[in-house]
Amino acid sequence: MLEPPQPDAGCALFFDFDGTLTEIAPTPDAVVVDDRLRGLLSMLSAALCGAVAVVSGRTVADIDRRLEPLRLPVAGVHGAERRGHDGYLRRIAVGDLRPAQALLDAFVRERPGLLLETKPGSLALHYRQAPALEDACLTVMSEAMQRVEGMTLMRGKMIVELKPRRAGKGHAVRAFLDERPFRLRRPWFFGDDVTDEAAFEAVQACGGVAVKVGDGETLAAHRLPDPSALHRWMAQAAHTLSRRSALAR
Ligand SMILES: [Mg+2]
Repeated sequence: MLEPPQPDAGCALFFDFDGTLTEIAPTPDAVVVDDRLRGLLSMLSAALCGAVAVVSGRTVADIDRRLEPLRLPVAGVHGAERRGHDGYLRRIAVGDLRPAQALLDAFVRERPGLLLETKPGSLALHYRQAPALEDACLTVMSEAMQRVEGMTLMRGKMIVELKPRRAGKGHAVRAFLDERPFRLRRPWFFGDDVTDEAAFEAVQACGGVAVKVGDGETLAAHRLPDPSALHRWMAQAAHTLSRRSALAR
């Protein structure tokens, strides 16, 4: 598989967060963003007239907190919520999650190591600290899914998540591409997990570039080995874009 090429000034960059921009940590809260990464995102955003966004399973508020003071367009909870360049937050309507939450709260209470994360429009069960419980987690999540209308299950790395059927990273990228400053740009998507495959498909379907970060089967035509390699690519891209714009002046 190919290393990604360098971007030109007509592209839009979309990044997954965990495992792509940052290394995966033992718990979701332990992930840290350093100033260098903030600087790279900020330089790329300036060079591309603001056409840089984060598309994550985390909430928009969580991404904002981690990138502070940088504030980028963000799709959170796999696109169940999305804040465009205009600053307005849109949410997909979701059924009442309480019956599912009651079941999962009781399940997690009896099993140390599991973590239930409650997000607007989604419930995520993390089992990174108790991998032997994977099958039990999948079973209880299927049961939880039956308790709320319009939901589906999605698996990621040591996580199984209940999310609205209409939410997905592919939809989120397409929604951004309908709006300024992303419209008419060639989309690039960087991601590491199965939840990113829909976005890979979406960008490649419109002539864009998909980059898988790390190992594993994928639809993406390009690959980088890990988040550090992505940071090196971003630094080179920021340099290439700023040099081109200086030459164009
Ligand atoms: Mg990820």
